[in-house]
Amino acid sequence: MASDIENYRLQLIRQFERENSEAEQAIAENREKQQRAKEAIARCMVEPPAPDSCPECWYMHGKVSPLKTTDSDDEGVDVFRCSVCWFLDRRPG
Ligand SMILES: [Zn+2]
Repeated sequence: MASDIENYRLQLIRQFERENSEAEQAIAENREKQQRAKEAIARCMVEPPAPDSCPECWYMHGKVSPLKTTDSDDEGVDVFRCSVCWFLDRRPG
């Protein structure tokens, strides 16, 4: 039968191994989050690669989606919509 001190030591090892595992997971998640933020910052520094592509799809996800003309009820306003995320761009016509 293990002594109380030995049981305490083994308990501490399990506890610190669990804490270490949780910290490693948090570090990995934060590295992914940092990488996504860095990539988004780089995209926000330049215009979307294709003319009339959706800024939401490009800046947020790095995807090139065309904005397409859609019907507008407002006189003198042209409306463009992304068919992927439904971003709406209203422009003076
Ligand atoms: Zn979009």
